[in-house]
Amino acid sequence: MRKSVEDDLKAIGLALDNDVMPSVFDRGVVRPVVSPDDLKLAGQEKADARQRPTRSATRPWERPAGWQGTTGQPRSPHSGTPLVQPGLRSRYTEGVGACRDAYPGLLAFPQERQMWLFAESDLIEGLGRRAAFAIQLPYTTNQPVRAWGFWTTAVSKTWIGPRHTNFPDGSVCAFEPRDQTWLPGGSVTALLDLYCLWAVRHLYLEKYGKWPGRQSVPIAAERLLELGDEEFCGCEHPLGTFARCCKASDQTKTSGADLLDFAMKTRMPPDEVVRFAWNPTSPPGLRGQNTRQT
Ligand SMILES: [Zn+2]
Repeated sequence: MRKSVEDDLKAIGLALDNDVMPSVFDRGVVRPVVSPDDLKLAGQEKADARQRPTRSATRPWERPAGWQGTTGQPRSPHSGTPLVQPGLRSRYTEGVGACRDAYPGLLAFPQERQMWLFAESDLIEGLGRRAAFAIQLPYTTNQPVRAWGFWTTAVSKTWIGPRHTNFPDGSVCAFEPRDQTWLPGGSVTALLDLYCLWAVRHLYLEKYGKWPGRQSVPIAAERLLELGDEEFCGCEHPLGTFARCCKASDQTKTSGADLLDFAMKTRMPPDEVVRFAWNPTSPPGLRGQNTRQT
């Protein structure tokens, strides 16, 4: 890894550990855009720290006209929500148009009930690989938006996971749905930016062995198996690092069977999605699947 990439990555991790979201620029480039002095200030003002990624001031996030918000809650198939909500379809269609400047080369495959997207991000200039995302945007709030991340080079496509992906399909878990960071019908650019931040955290994990910044890991067995001592605890009300927060109590209340049960669960992207990542010329033929958010 080039020195300049490593410097950027370190600064991004430091910002995330201090509750400061890095900014996402065109082509999905993530930059810390804060100096160490800013971080000290941010540490003193954590309550005010922004939890959302920010775009450069020259091109603010767009919000589709007619935005009214949706609950973002999954609904039962019997709740009367139609299979196609025209409002969602038109917002995503507009959102893709607006997104092409930010993510050049973005591919969109509109279908009857959903839209598939394929987008690539440079992530950090000079990295030598890109992050690619396959994204399924249903035109109904009955089904969740799903995405899969892959590291791509000219000769390889490698699934990004398993940390912060969903069971069992290995789809991206880039934000806590309850936090309403992004809601169905929201900006496509903002959604891709969130996926870029997720991917850059994976890059940091790969390089430094530690997930940077806050995280949601509600299951004790998952915390014990996956969290490093110095990572933020993933419980609902974290008190600092995992070692200082839940580790001891997790060890007390988790049995060997619980750990084995969790360890046996596998997360893998569907074959059709992997095929799409290699050759994004026609959308995956996926049926809706139940996904547990983690
Ligand atoms: Zn905890």
